[in-house]
Amino acid sequence: MRPRKAALVAAIAVIAVVASLALAARAGAKEAGARAVPARGRIFVLMVWDGLRPDLVDAVNTPNLFALEQAGVRFARHHSIYPTLTMVNAAGLATGAAPGGSGIYGDAMYLAPVLGMARAAAIPQIGVLLGDPLNLENSRYLAELNESPAFDGRLIGLRTTAQEVEAAGGYVAVIGKAGPTLLFDDNFVKKESNGKGPRNYLFVADDLAAPQASAAELAQAPPMKRGDYGSVIARDGWFAKLATDQALPAARAASAAGQPALIVFWQHNPDLTQHMAGLGTQPARDALHACDANLAALRAAIGALGIADRTDLVVVSDHGFATIKAMVPLARLLVAAGLKKSVKSTDIVVADGGGSDSVYVSRSDFPRAGARREVLRRIVEYTAAQEWVGPIFARDATVGGPSGHPRGHGYDGSIAGTFDESAFGLGNNARAPDLIISFRELSDVDNSELTGPVHPGDTMGPNGPEAQTNHSSALVHPVPGVVYADANGFTSGMGMHGAAGARELHNFAAAIGPDFHRGLIDTAPTGNADIAPTAAEILRQAPVEGVTGRVLREALVSRRGRADPRMCGEPVIARTTLRLKTSRVTTTLRLTRYGGREYLDDSAVTVTPAR
Ligand SMILES: [Zn+2]
Repeated sequence: MRPRKAALVAAIAVIAVVASLALAARAGAKEAGARAVPARGRIFVLMVWDGLRPDLVDAVNTPNLFALEQAGVRFARHHSIYPTLTMVNAAGLATGAAPGGSGIYGDAMYLAPVLGMARAAAIPQIGVLLGDPLNLENSRYLAELNESPAFDGRLIGLRTTAQEVEAAGGYVAVIGKAGPTLLFDDNFVKKESNGKGPRNYLFVADDLAAPQASAAELAQAPPMKRGDYGSVIARDGWFAKLATDQALPAARAASAAGQPALIVFWQHNPDLTQHMAGLGTQPARDALHACDANLAALRAAIGALGIADRTDLVVVSDHGFATIKAMVPLARLLVAAGLKKSVKSTDIVVADGGGSDSVYVSRSDFPRAGARREVLRRIVEYTAAQEWVGPIFARDATVGGPSGHPRGHGYDGSIAGTFDESAFGLGNNARAPDLIISFRELSDVDNSELTGPVHPGDTMGPNGPEAQTNHSSALVHPVPGVVYADANGFTSGMGMHGAAGARELHNFAAAIGPDFHRGLIDTAPTGNADIAPTAAEILRQAPVEGVTGRVLREALVSRRGRADPRMCGEPVIARTTLRLKTSRVTTTLRLTRYGGREYLDDSAVTVTPAR
């Protein structure tokens, strides 16, 4: 009880501080004449540090980001959207929706059954690839998927903030990592090829640039080389220069003409370096420093252009991070357990997603709903008995799912021992996997025995752990949070994300600018789905229908930006128990309910002997 009570007292103190800050900020804004800048001329800059964990932001690692979160708003309880993967959260940041709304479930998705197997195979360029899960971190693949005869303009289920700003005659620039960038407007390429006249936008990703003039510049970008951490820093720095030298001046011109502007800058780091070298290594620290230098360059440019009074800057990461404890090749293990014909067979397809795998059961191999349900039940019983499994989510049985079996009430999934995808923003979509299996995260175990080439590596084989070479770099300082993971080319000690553990679900967010309070710690639960609705509010765009996120009013200076007295939210526990032959597996999800929304905080699995 004591910690809860202490938290409550602290929250009440924060509410009082927030209320007085809000008054002070409102008065200050009036004095400074910030209102003189019409809302229509607002500039919203979203800077993404891929995979940044909030506990790695401090005065030493990231002095400029540390200064920003002290001076502006620090979102102290920010949440990634589950699965904690880049593409899921890019779609969420672009639209304000969870996967059930955006239709983006992972960095790799198995789309052939959704498109129809024969039709999928006939799609130009990518048809041959659709027989397997497709890696979506590729601008051309995404552009093709949004064309006819694939999704025909419906790759993303909702309109994005960028599309709304463009429709309002504003300026949009999206710059950075291939994959997440294209989700901010899945029509970038289509509109360009349709030649609908000049548009006021800039799109530059690793593999594609538009308008045409930018393609020549992209050819001059410093190449990224695998294993060369300096080349990733150089590429992010090159993107930062595009943001400061081209996007911000164009945004200023739009603002001067009374138009809104949106700039998205998505860095590869620290994610790419944390993946390959591992958390707490020298390359990972260098990556943080480089991201911080890019932030300094952005803020310096905003100042030099004289647009600080009309520019809101939100710095966010897409997801948290953990260290790989051991590799779990799920497809291979399912074959060994007699649940799948072969690793490449399509009766059961596994899209490996690092911390969470998606499982799809073939409708042609298992035409009867009862047979599908039976194989799903056996997969759940097999995985639930393993030390590496976390929570499992099952597709809503009523939406073309495994059977017409009535859905349990609350959070229960249609298969015993699972949670309902629909209760977590993952359901009601034709693309929803039959199962989403999160691997187990151990939040408090650190990587001192895992990261560094001197440590052994493990792959979970059918007969127990198998030794594997450890490809991570030497550890400089230990970082808590380890996770089991399924991803080709990775080893113990390297970094990963995607699971439903606290270290991956809690990511970074902070904001500064004329619409945000100064010196505020926002202790309300917030999440990546809330960023797009907040941007729309600031840019005076109509809220997009179907979003899961909320406007972060408690952080805003504006008219309705009062602190919510129910600021902490209400803790919620969801629990499911599965009885196996010799044990009982209880999986617990912790959530916070706030403002009519639920934020997933953590998960835990306990195993007890069967009575
Ligand atoms: Zn990412």
